[in-house]
Amino acid sequence: MAINTEAYRVIQQKLGNAHVALVAVSKTKPAEDIQALYNLGQRDFGENYVQELVDKHAQLPKDIRWHFIGHLQSNKVKYIVPFVHLIHGVDSFKLLKEINKQALKNNRVIDCLLQVHIAQEETKFGFDEQELLDINLNELKALANVNVAGLMGMASFTDDIEKVRREFKYLKNLFYKFSYLLSTVNIQLSTLSMGMSSDYTVAIEEGSTMVRIGSLLFGAREYVK
Ligand SMILES: *Cc1c(COP(=O)(O)O)cnc(C)c1O
Repeated sequence: MAINTEAYRVIQQKLGNAHVALVAVSKTKPAEDIQALYNLGQRDFGENYVQELVDKHAQLPKDIRWHFIGHLQSNKVKYIVPFVHLIHGVDSFKLLKEINKQALKNNRVIDCLLQVHIAQEETKFGFDEQELLDINLNELKALANVNVAGLMGMASFTDDIEKVRREFKYLKNLFYKFSYLLSTVNIQLSTLSMGMSSDYTVAIEEGSTMVRIGSLLFGAREYVK
């Protein structure tokens, strides 16, 4: 397998102009591919599976910032908390509490994004709008070892680009609302993680600050775990 150097340059150019951060999604791809992109200067990588992330962290340079972007089970939090940079897919308050507990044990404060359910598919995890706005802010504030830094969402898997755009717009609006709420307890949100290979240009147009791109950089994944 080889990485797509030309795609990396094009993406970097587009993101740089818009001040958007790139997470290179390397799930199912070998460590050599990650190292190759690292050698071009990339430092942020995203993984979906705990064991795979733990293995790759052990093998690869220590200045990589590892993002966990998959569905995280509470009982596996402890394996990634010692080193993870940002957890994108926090989909319940219970999970946030577990991350806080493990982070405390490791004497760390972990940046987290709350995942919001914006697509129509039933299978996507995340808070809905009401659940997000109903979060008890005092309880949230009391979790001293997690820092809620923003929101993450995935649009519907569809060719209908206007539908994708509406979903991103909706998430951006929710980001404003939630930012305002959190500012009342002195929490500042910085990150809106939205956009993947197929829709990242739309996501940037709609106000994304961080995109998660896999197949454009590493080629299509041959299998889905
Ligand atoms: C796999 C994955 C991506 C990257 O998908 P591509 O279509 O390969 O860019 C982004 N975000 C999440 C949450 C993923 O699971």
